[in-house]
Amino acid sequence: MNVAYTLLIVDDERQNRALLTELLKDEYRLILAKNGVQALERAAEHKPDLILLDVLMPEMDGYTVIRRLKNDESTRDIPVIFVSALDSAESEERGLELGAVDYISKPFRPSIVRARVRNHIQSVHQRRLLEQLALLDALTEIPNRRRFVQVYEQEWRRCKRHGSALSLIVVDVDHFKFYNDNHGHTAGDDVLRQVGHTLRAALKRSSDFVARYGGEEFVILLPEVDREGAHALAEQVRAEIELLRIPHPHSPVQPWITISLGGATETPDDGQSESELFSVADSALYEAKRTGRNRVVWATPAGRSWEGETV
Ligand code: GH3
Ligand code: MG
Ligand code: MG
Repeated sequence: MNVAYTLLIVDDERQNRALLTELLKDEYRLILAKNGVQALERAAEHKPDLILLDVLMPEMDGYTVIRRLKNDESTRDIPVIFVSALDSAESEERGLELGAVDYISKPFRPSIVRARVRNHIQSVHQRRLLEQLALLDALTEIPNRRRFVQVYEQEWRRCKRHGSALSLIVVDVDHFKFYNDNHGHTAGDDVLRQVGHTLRAALKRSSDFVARYGGEEFVILLPEVDREGAHALAEQVRAEIELLRIPHPHSPVQPWITISLGGATETPDDGQSESELFSVADSALYEAKRTGRNRVVWATPAGRSWEGETV
C-alpha cells in the first residue's frame, strides 16, 4: 500500500539524504531536497504525503521552512517530521509548536525512523479514507451533496476559464411519497439505490458527475457538454429509469417508477453565478412536474422559458 505514498526528504548533507533514502526507498516514493528553497518548491509541486525536515541548514533553516509550509494553504496539511542533530528539549519543543507531528534526533536508530514514518503515514491513510467517506452518500454510494458543491464550484471556474459550456440536470423521482407509503421505506431505499446506479452508469466522460442531492433528488453535472448533448443524456436517463419497470401501482403517471428532469446549460462568465444556473435548472424541474412528470424540461438560453419533451 505504501508505495503509493510520497515522502519529501530535506537535508543539506548528502550523506544524510543517502542514509534516509536507503532506509525508506523500498516502501515509499521519495523526493529529495538539499535546502529550504528547494524543499518549498518541491513540496508545492509534488504535494508529498509526509516531509522529513532537517533543522540546521544554511540560508533557510527547518523552522523557517515549516513556517512557510504552514502559511501556504496548499501545503499546510502535509505532516512534517523534524530530523535534527539538535537534541535539546527546547529545539524539540519549538519544532512541535510550529506544527511538526514528530521530532527525531540524529543520530537516529533506523528502525525507529522507519516505524515512526509508518505510523504517520498510517494516519494520513486513515484521514484520507474518512475524507472520502464524508463525501459519499451512504445509501446509494454515489457522491453526496457536499461533494457536489465542491465539484460544481470547481467546474464552474474551469468552464469560465476555458469559455466552455456547463450543463446541469436536476432529477427527482415522481410520486415517491406514495411509493414509500405503499411499499415501505426499505423498499423505497432500494429504489433510490437503483436510480443512483442507473444515473451513474449513464455518464459518458470522466468529467461527467452525478450526486445524490438529498432525499429523492439527484444532480448531474456535465462540464463542456452543450445543450443538445446534455438534453439527449437527460432523455436517455429518463427512458432508462422507465425501462427498469419498478412497479409503482399507485403512481398516477405510469404503473412503474418514473423521474422528472430539469436542465439548463450556460457558458459561465462574470454575469451569472452557479447558484443562478442551479435555480434555472430547478425551475425547469418544477415545470416538468407541473406539466405531467416523467419528462425532461430544458431552460432556453434566454432564461426561464421552457422547451418541453412530451412523452
Ligand atoms: P413529486 O412527484 O412531486 O416529486 O412527488 P413526491 O412524492 O416524490 O415528492 P415529495 O417531496 O412530496 O416526497 C418525497 C418523498 O421522498 C418523501 C420521502 O418519504 C421520500 N424520501 C426522501 N428521502 C428518502 C430516503 O432516503 N429513503 C426513502 N425510502 N424515501 C425517501
Ligand atoms: Mg419526488
Ligand atoms: Mg423532491
